[in-house]
Amino acid sequence: MPKVKKNVGAQKKSRRMMLRKARKTESEEEIVSDRDTDPKDVTDVSSVDEDQYSDASLLIESDTETDHIQKEKVLTGRRVVDIQYFLSALKSLQHMGFGCSFLKAEVISEKIEGFESVLTFKCNMCGKVDVIRTGDTNSSFGSANRASVVGGLSIGIGYPQLAQLFAAMDIPQMSNGTYLKHHNGISKWVTNLNQHLMSVASKEETELADEKNEDGIPIIAVIADGAWGKRSYRRNYSALSGVASIIGAKSKKNLYMGVKNKYCYLCTRGRDVSDHTCFRNWNKTSTSMEAGIICEGFSDSISRHNLIYGQLIGDGDSSVYRHLTELAPYGPTFYIRKIECRNHLLRNYINKLSDLSKNSSFPKSRRDYVCNLSTLGRFRNAVVKAVQYRKHENLPIDTKIENLRRDVLNSPFHILGRHERCQEYFCSGKEDDEVRNDKFK
Ligand SMILES: [Zn+2]
Ligand SMILES: [Zn+2]
Ligand SMILES: [Zn+2]
Repeated sequence: MPKVKKNVGAQKKSRRMMLRKARKTESEEEIVSDRDTDPKDVTDVSSVDEDQYSDASLLIESDTETDHIQKEKVLTGRRVVDIQYFLSALKSLQHMGFGCSFLKAEVISEKIEGFESVLTFKCNMCGKVDVIRTGDTNSSFGSANRASVVGGLSIGIGYPQLAQLFAAMDIPQMSNGTYLKHHNGISKWVTNLNQHLMSVASKEETELADEKNEDGIPIIAVIADGAWGKRSYRRNYSALSGVASIIGAKSKKNLYMGVKNKYCYLCTRGRDVSDHTCFRNWNKTSTSMEAGIICEGFSDSISRHNLIYGQLIGDGDSSVYRHLTELAPYGPTFYIRKIECRNHLLRNYINKLSDLSKNSSFPKSRRDYVCNLSTLGRFRNAVVKAVQYRKHENLPIDTKIENLRRDVLNSPFHILGRHERCQEYFCSGKEDDEVRNDKFK
């Protein structure tokens, strides 16, 4: 509502209070004094000598009109509502002494704050006015406005697309100014929330940990991996931005994440580092970003979470593990164990097989056979099947690992037609070797 109107409303209120005071009647007085904007009340007042209060009656007329318009406006379109919060707030509307509840209340105005509304209810019985928000500002995402900006950013849309989406859903818009305000404040807010969630995750990992060192610090297994802003496919690593994170193997929740940037838009245009929030924090090679971030996470683990990352599940090919062993974050005597995950094992396996297709010392027909998509698929499947089977075997872990190793090493023989060492579970029908050998000719 524009400011001028509010002032008129305030004048109007005090004028009506004066009117009422003038007509002071004994028992009704208490109740009436609360009813500021009730239409019934308005008719009451207008029945007073109009000449005497001519300007008052004028104001009252316009009041009736705004009330009418407001009611129509309030009840159109849809809203984004924090349902549990809103229903509990409605339920809590109870007016002492009259026994009236939400059922007797009517919406008399709505203040729209972007995707949230502040609704003013007025009780038809006792005239009490209650104000209820459609959302809880203390919820984990803050307001619906902030949540919509976070959501928009994470799927890569901006204000115009967000506005269009909500217009199609007939939900009142957030203004561009409000959007920008939330957008600019979001990085700090996301960082804080992220820190909070990571400390929650670390507590969970602490409880789930099976092992402790001599000082009672839990030792856990973590999964670590990185990603870059630019896909490189094992060559031409020149990404300007990279991210890596460390995830607890048991909770599957994030314990550490870092971002490295080699580029700042403002710095390249000659701005001084001190006059802006500069996100440039890396001047080494793009390939070393992942190892850099993960090493930081390991070095911080005790001070930040009181945890030791004793086992690293991750990329078999990456330089991360080598960097970690050089860094020795838990002292020279603590050995961080490395566990290769199935996904990376498969990726490295297939990459190495694909490399064979470029080695011209083998005949082309053979290279084509090994490196076509369907054969590569069979190499993958053989490993997946072996992992699945060995994982559920009821044997000591060392035996299981040794069996899996043998299966993985045997899989190329199986696929290329030699089944002497194939296990029962692995290979039922021994394919005709002659048929397969024909393909190599
Ligand atoms: Zn009431
Ligand atoms: Zn900068
Ligand atoms: Zn076989």
